[in-house]
Amino acid sequence: MLGKLTGWNDTICALATPPGIGAIGVIRVSGNHAIDIINQIFPSKDLAQQKSHTLHVGLLQYNQVVIDEVVIALFKGPKSYTGENVIEISCHGSHYIQQQLLETLQQLGCRIAKPGEFTQRAFINGKLDLTQAEAVADVIASNTEASKKTALRQIRGGFSSSLQQLRDELIQFSSLIELELDFSQEDVEFANRDRLQQLLQQATIQVQHLLQSFQWGNVVKNGVQVAIVGKPNAGKSTLLNTLLQEDRAIVSDIAGTTRDTIEETINIKGILFRLIDTAGIREHTQDVIEQVGIGKSKAAIEKADIVVYLFDVNDTEPESLDSIIGNLQQQNKRYLLVGNKADLALPTQLTPYGKWNALFISAQNKHDVAQLQEAIYNATVQQPPNEDVVVTNARHVAALQQIQQSLADITDGLTHQVPGDLLALDIRRCLHFLGEITGEITHEDQLDYIFSKFCIGK
Ligand code: GDP
Repeated sequence: MLGKLTGWNDTICALATPPGIGAIGVIRVSGNHAIDIINQIFPSKDLAQQKSHTLHVGLLQYNQVVIDEVVIALFKGPKSYTGENVIEISCHGSHYIQQQLLETLQQLGCRIAKPGEFTQRAFINGKLDLTQAEAVADVIASNTEASKKTALRQIRGGFSSSLQQLRDELIQFSSLIELELDFSQEDVEFANRDRLQQLLQQATIQVQHLLQSFQWGNVVKNGVQVAIVGKPNAGKSTLLNTLLQEDRAIVSDIAGTTRDTIEETINIKGILFRLIDTAGIREHTQDVIEQVGIGKSKAAIEKADIVVYLFDVNDTEPESLDSIIGNLQQQNKRYLLVGNKADLALPTQLTPYGKWNALFISAQNKHDVAQLQEAIYNATVQQPPNEDVVVTNARHVAALQQIQQSLADITDGLTHQVPGDLLALDIRRCLHFLGEITGEITHEDQLDYIFSKFCIGK
């Protein structure tokens, strides 16, 4: 696996702060030659003679030209993020200075880092396991308290350590069973089958809990997709605006998000709800009641984790909702029926909708919109699991499913008293998938894929 990676004798550099103008910019350098290279442009001190984890102020100078006055943070390997010599240069946040410095570093032998390469080196050098490395990207991408908390827990190794004990015990069993094979003539049993059975039971429950936590993990990490659909003039835009005004999520305001990736998001109790834009539905469908299963509304509904079907209580026959509900149920969609413009209606007018548990709001007057938010949350977010560890990553889910299957196979083998070599084979398969999660067993393509999703400089 390390074939291509062991060529990593080169020293890499990258801007670790967002490109553009800011108070300061940080450029990171990592590799065997980091200290020699910076020494060539930092005349004030010999960094090789300085202690690790120290800060140094001075001018950076190359070919008699001053690049900037900077603060250098020195981390000598292996006690550094990557495990190599790392230098972080805090320069003034001018785009020109940052570029000049990066160019100089390249002239001195550094290479611009690939996305995620610092973290990839940390992984290769054993500073992080794979789940921890993946969590670094999750922390950077986190945009709610819940997603940050879960990712930080994973960085601290919570997920891996929860699997480590199982792995250790299985390794022990596997070696005992393999030892039995060496004594096959003598019919001995070194591996205690009862203890193995017990371990398998515990492990199966543990893996099941982890898989179940993914529903919550996915919600925490990716948010919940909400489609607000309904007839023209039901009040969809008004509701959208009311929801956004009350609770506009900070993420939408981050500079640099491109126009087409701006999402309408709201934050309810720390979870991000992504409102799918159904503005286009109005143009193409005169009667959404008839067409709720087709075209743009269909796409919006398909994408959604929950559909909010909005209707005007002054303009909707209660029976006409039957086909809408039928459609949504057929698609196995979670949905909420919401009667809007309740401010214009008499209470008796609302009674006939009772059989569908419709909610009533006035989007315009912001009346009962908070209850609607609560209902959206309750309909889509299951109670967070008690477990400390929450699975947020589809790659981990795939491996856990394989682990679940191999645990079932080992259990089955034990029950049917299959020969030791077959048992050992299943245990090894289980160990393989456990190792895939933490990165003890990896494929180069998979690593490249995981780290390519990082930003440069991390
Ligand atoms: P859309 O076509 O579903 O997006 O509907 P709009 O949001 O454009 O609303 C259609 C009309 O209904 C507008 O004139 C809104 O001001 C009005 N409207 C929306 N919500 C309410 C409400 O709660 N009460 C009242 N009285 N009027 C509303």
